Amino acid sequence: MSRGTRALIDAGALRANLERVRTLAPNSRVWAVVKADGYGHGAVNVALALSDADGFAVATLAEAQCLRDAGIEHPILLLEGTIDLEQARQAIALRCDTVVHQTEQLAHLEQLADERHEQRLWLKVDTGMHRLGVAPEAAPDYLERLRALGPRHPVGLMTHFASADEADPTPTEQQIKVFESCEPGEVPACLANSAGVMAWPRSHRDWVRPGIMLYGASPGFDKTGLDLGLKPAMTLTAPVIAVREIPAGDRVGYGGRWQARRPSRIATLAIGYGDGYPRHAPDGTPVWLHGRRVPLVGKVSMDMITIDVTDLDRIEIGEDAELWGAHLSVDEVATHIGTVGYELLTRVSPRVEKRLL
Ligand code: PLP
Repeated sequence: MSRGTRALIDAGALRANLERVRTLAPNSRVWAVVKADGYGHGAVNVALALSDADGFAVATLAEAQCLRDAGIEHPILLLEGTIDLEQARQAIALRCDTVVHQTEQLAHLEQLADERHEQRLWLKVDTGMHRLGVAPEAAPDYLERLRALGPRHPVGLMTHFASADEADPTPTEQQIKVFESCEPGEVPACLANSAGVMAWPRSHRDWVRPGIMLYGASPGFDKTGLDLGLKPAMTLTAPVIAVREIPAGDRVGYGGRWQARRPSRIATLAIGYGDGYPRHAPDGTPVWLHGRRVPLVGKVSMDMITIDVTDLDRIEIGEDAELWGAHLSVDEVATHIGTVGYELLTRVSPRVEKRLL
C-alpha cells in the first residue's frame, strides 16, 4: 500500500533530453549513463524510456545484471571495469563492454582470451582527473597488449573530464590535448560527459557519455537544468498529512530549530531523510505548493518535514507538494542545501514509489 510519496518519472522528458544530446552531438553514438539506479530514476525505467540510446553505461556488474534481467539487450558499458578474474568472467557473461584502466585487468583479459567470446574493451586514459585510467605515456603499450587479444576484442579509447562545466577552459583543453596525443588514429574515442556534450564540441567523438543532462538536471555552469533548457525527468511529491496553527514564539521540530515570528500555519509532509530528502536542508529550503515556493521550517525528520504555509489559502490533507521536479528545479533546491542535483536525485530511497509516466 502506497503512502503517497512518489517520484514520477517522465519518459517524455527523458526522451526530449536524449534528443537534445543528439542535436548537440549529431555524429556521436550515445551511451546513456544509468548508474546509481539511473541517477535515482530507476535504471530499468530509464532504459525502457531511452530505448533509442545506442547503449547504457553502468558502474557495477550488479547494475548491468539488473538491466539484462529486465530484458535490455543494448550494449552495456561497465565504467569501473572489473577487479578480479571472476568479475571479468561475469562481465563477459553479461555481454558488457568493459573499461580497462589498470594492469591487473589486462592480465585477467589475457587469461580469458582463449575462451571464445567477443567483448569490446575501452582503454581509459588518465588525462588529468587522477581518479581512474592509465598514464598517457603507458597508453601505447596497453593498446598494443589489448590489440594482441585479437579481433574479437575491438578496442576504444576513453577519458573523463574533471571540470568541463567550469568557466576556466584551461583544464579541459589540457585534458583533450593529452587525450589526442595518445590516440593511435583509428580507434573509436569517447570523452564527453554532459558538460562535454553541452560545452565542448571538440570532445564529441565516436561516442558521448551523458548522464545528468538526460535527467534534466544541470551538470554545472552555475545554471539550473531549466535554465539550460532541459526537461526535469523526476518530480518528487509528498502529501500533506497534517496541518496546525501555532502562536508566534513557538518552535517547530527536533531541537526547536525554527521559531515562529508570527502566528503561523505549519503543514507536515510525508517525506523525510528516510526517503532521501536531505537531513541537512536548512530553514527556507523551497518546496512547491499551490503554485508557489513555501519554506521548509524546522529540522528534517526521518519520515516527515514541516513547511510554513501561513501565506497560502486553505490546505487540504492529502494534497501533494513538490519537493523538486517540473516546477521547482532540483538544482535550485540543491544550491539551497549546499549540494548538487546529482546527489539529491541519486539519494531518493527505495521507500519512495517510482512511477514511469
Ligand atoms: N562517464 C563517467 C566515467 C562518469 O563517471 C560519469 C558520471 O559521473 C559520466 C560519464 C556522466 O557524467 P554526467 O552525469 O556529468 O553527464
